[in-house]
Amino acid sequence: MSEAIIERTPSAYYYPLLIKNLLGNAVRQFPNQEIVYSDFKRQTYRTLGERVGRLASGLAGLGVKPGDTVAVMDWDSHRYLECFFAVPMMGAVLHTVNIRLSPEQILYTINHAEDDVILVNTEFLPILEAIRDRIEPVKKLVLLNDTDQTPATPLDIGAEYETLLAASDPNYPFPDFSEDARATTFYTTGTTGLPKGVYFSHRQLVLHTFGVLAAVTGTGQGHISRDDVYLPITPMFHVHAWGVPYVATVLGVKQVYPGRYAPDHLLRLIQRENVTFSHCVPTILQMLLASPTVDEVDLSRWKVIIGGAALPQALARQTRARGVDVLTAYGMSETCPILTLAQLKPHMLDWDEERQLEIRCKTGLPVPMVELRVVDEEMNDLPHDGKTPGEVVVRAPWLTQGYLKDPRNSEALWRGGYLHTGDIGVIDEEGYLKITDRLKDVIKTGGEWISSLELEDLILKHPAVAEAAVVGIPDPKWGERPLALVVAKRDQPVDEAAIRAWLQDFADKGIISKWGIPDRVLFVEAIPKTSVGKLNKKAMREQYAQLLQAR
Ligand code: AMP
Repeated sequence: MSEAIIERTPSAYYYPLLIKNLLGNAVRQFPNQEIVYSDFKRQTYRTLGERVGRLASGLAGLGVKPGDTVAVMDWDSHRYLECFFAVPMMGAVLHTVNIRLSPEQILYTINHAEDDVILVNTEFLPILEAIRDRIEPVKKLVLLNDTDQTPATPLDIGAEYETLLAASDPNYPFPDFSEDARATTFYTTGTTGLPKGVYFSHRQLVLHTFGVLAAVTGTGQGHISRDDVYLPITPMFHVHAWGVPYVATVLGVKQVYPGRYAPDHLLRLIQRENVTFSHCVPTILQMLLASPTVDEVDLSRWKVIIGGAALPQALARQTRARGVDVLTAYGMSETCPILTLAQLKPHMLDWDEERQLEIRCKTGLPVPMVELRVVDEEMNDLPHDGKTPGEVVVRAPWLTQGYLKDPRNSEALWRGGYLHTGDIGVIDEEGYLKITDRLKDVIKTGGEWISSLELEDLILKHPAVAEAAVVGIPDPKWGERPLALVVAKRDQPVDEAAIRAWLQDFADKGIISKWGIPDRVLFVEAIPKTSVGKLNKKAMREQYAQLLQAR
């Protein structure tokens, strides 16, 4: 192809897509807009701008250079937001450490990412103390402290965050550099093997910000505007809190960072700060609605995007009953993360509540610039009929270009030039994707594939069920059979036969195959979860592997 490449006037400025360009106008145009940190701090966008400069000057004073890696171990805070900007803006890489991993895994990620400086909240000092002899080489530590006390620790603390900022110049000359420079790194929280590092460039984060902005900005169902108040409830260490802090900053909205998550604290913040927009995983939403204080809070102005796992219809209905605009999003660590959003199309706004609910619980429409396909094993597109399942593969400007220092898994992720999500889904006539399973969680029984997510959704509709998970476990005759783990609601009698009869009813109506009815339904106190609150199906499969073997 011989396309006409544009000519560049020698003096023309070639504008790189850099994270610093997301911040400047927001600070200038909304200097008095608020940023709140839990019960600890209130500041403005003007202060954010100054503190970002101070942080960069302070880190440079500690020896941080372009290309170095700065790790953060903190709760969601105004400090974390400052790091989201200052660290990449100075040309360094921000490593957001998943503080819910085991100390051994945290050690692995710190060494693998080759962190040069670690900013650590006093609460996480014990983790670093436990692994300090094996961190290589020894890092400079900056303490993040929400108390007045200086902690006693054998670690060599290089600086305290507030003291460092107070002593540093707010006017840091943030340079221009390649938009392909690495801005962030973090590790997947998968349940198998060692954590895998993913990474995103300035260009990718800027384009993700604008892709998401294009999808969410506006008024009406599933949209946000400058008047909204934002409270993230997915951790900033996990896929940059879905990249939404960047979106919120460009929009110039009031932002509220909650610190450690506790349901009544989150509800109190929603009430006190008039929060209108959040995102979280279904488990957190469930916890908020189950909190004894939920009735004291008016949630009727709240919009919440649910992702990280499927949104069960029963939970969506319960949420809608409080007047919340609830909808699903989909993505993964490897995809920055947002790929789809389940906003209603204009003609659906006239539909009745139940039909709308179904759309809200789908996985959504791809946001601008995301090319999303559902394919068979030979990468052929499958029909958009809402029922033919295949693997979801994607292209977008913001997908990780590989796993850090791991060419073999990187090639597998990108085989055939599309990023393989490892998720199975169907696309309907309207273009909405619905994830039906993880490739590795689908239950293969006899010749059939059973969707564990669909079964969970149906079991959760039973009035006595609080939580449910379905996994496939080995069966001598059928290969695998579904096993359901159920947490019953307190004081609500329910037994195995009742759940099986409940599902039989859906099978009789042709909604699920009769092979989908689990052979066993076990009632448990709690269902194993991963470090980010998702169902840990690997742990469940391992725990119950022998259950059906003796038959
Ligand atoms: P992670 O990389 O830990 O963020 O996990 C990403 C995975 O979570 C995806 O590959 C999906 O399996 C799952 N996931 C995320 N969002 C959804 C959703 N809306 N519905 C179903 N599964 C989801």
